[in-house]
Amino acid sequence: MTHLVLAGHGSHLNAASSEPTRRLAAALRRTGEFSAVSVALWKEEPSLSRALDAVEDPDVVVVPVFISTGYFTRTVVPREMRLDGPRTRRGRQHIRYTLPVGTHPRLADVIIERAREAGAGPADGLVVLGHGTRRDSESEKNVLTMADLVARRGLFAECGVAFIDQEPGMLTMLERFRAPRLFVVPLFIADGWHVGETIPADLALDGPETRRGGRIVHYTPPVGTHPALAAVVLELAREALPPQTSDLQPPISSLQSPASTLQPPASLGELRLEPKRICGPGDPLRELPPDAEAIRRYVRSDAAGRYRPLSGSRGLPPGWFVPLGGGLTADDVIEAVYPLALVHRQQAADGTLRIVPLDAVLDRQSGRYESARRLSDRGRRIAREVLCRGCVRTPAWPLSSTEPPAPCAVRPGPGVIPCPEPCSVLVALAREAAAWEQDPPAPAPIDPSVPFADFAAPGNPTREAVLAAILEPSRPGASP
Ligand code: SF4
Repeated sequence: MTHLVLAGHGSHLNAASSEPTRRLAAALRRTGEFSAVSVALWKEEPSLSRALDAVEDPDVVVVPVFISTGYFTRTVVPREMRLDGPRTRRGRQHIRYTLPVGTHPRLADVIIERAREAGAGPADGLVVLGHGTRRDSESEKNVLTMADLVARRGLFAECGVAFIDQEPGMLTMLERFRAPRLFVVPLFIADGWHVGETIPADLALDGPETRRGGRIVHYTPPVGTHPALAAVVLELAREALPPQTSDLQPPISSLQSPASTLQPPASLGELRLEPKRICGPGDPLRELPPDAEAIRRYVRSDAAGRYRPLSGSRGLPPGWFVPLGGGLTADDVIEAVYPLALVHRQQAADGTLRIVPLDAVLDRQSGRYESARRLSDRGRRIAREVLCRGCVRTPAWPLSSTEPPAPCAVRPGPGVIPCPEPCSVLVALAREAAAWEQDPPAPAPIDPSVPFADFAAPGNPTREAVLAAILEPSRPGASP
């Protein structure tokens, strides 16, 4: 049985960032080709570092949902998922790690499809628009290769590239291409900040169609949100597997978790578990559809509609319930609200929960998060105390490798969700707090409208609490 894992980026600030990867997973589940399809995210849950905790199949394929081979696919994903390279042996498990979706030749079909859907024909020009960066020559490679593959089909009068962050830049497109109608296809995964904001603003686009000096620029959605991307992932996964395991497999609709030997608790986090339904906080007035994806999307925002990037943060939207039955189990609902909570409870009870202390997590950070390592022991205690006290999970991880894990790492009490490893939100807070220790900014009045994980923004409640503790001279350190 082969388990497919889609490794994506996700975001602490933008709920839409991981949606293309999650939609892709849902589409691939429907193919029935894999025993299960799950996601693993750098900035969201389930995290890259823990997503494989729930996977028991002997064959696993990890496909990075990124456009280019670069820092994330070469460094971050293998490091966080503890992969040795294209093949990793872990016990009886064989994990195959493919190239990113953006490198597969079939992506050229998706680009062509995007352009055709927008109306492109033989007399038109097609521009493959990539990010590019002068810091990494690999970054441009896929964009050039894709444009070349499309050009060779001879379907359009012209086909070439443009970049946001390197030459040839997108601002010179109209001079470089001659066709009266230009179709610009963004080679991006998400309809996020660049595709939705910076590109339209920099090119002064009016929307999907912009008239300029007698010519027309058509701006399509990115390739990453096209349904045909599922076929590209299927190709990558099939190519990674030996022939006997790439045969059709019977589908498994629910997420895998070890058979529970724990008594079901009456409540877990902010959920109330009843025999025939699961309720959120408050009076259960509104019935949610018995659909795990719909429940997951619903609890990603709080009552005020603000994005909740940390699944365990207190503040689930109140007043709802989900009836059980019809294929939806209590485990499915809990997994949708608190990813991996049941797996980690069971592994703690079995004595198999892998605990990673904070110093190990900070020491492995690279790039813009490397500076988080500079946070003092005192600052680390403060960050844990402030962030984790607002979370329904209980840190089982110690601050350093020399300390023992918390008792919940082996004896999860009723309703306790052990947290085996500091999450990416805590790492982001540690990075900011390390800078505040060196050069403290001025405290600001708390502003609840500041996004939960925007720790750099004055008024962020977590920022203000951590900053106040750092600045408190009489405070020797938060209580362990
Ligand atoms: S590190 Fe703290 S805030 Fe993050 S998931 Fe674990 S307990 Fe919650």
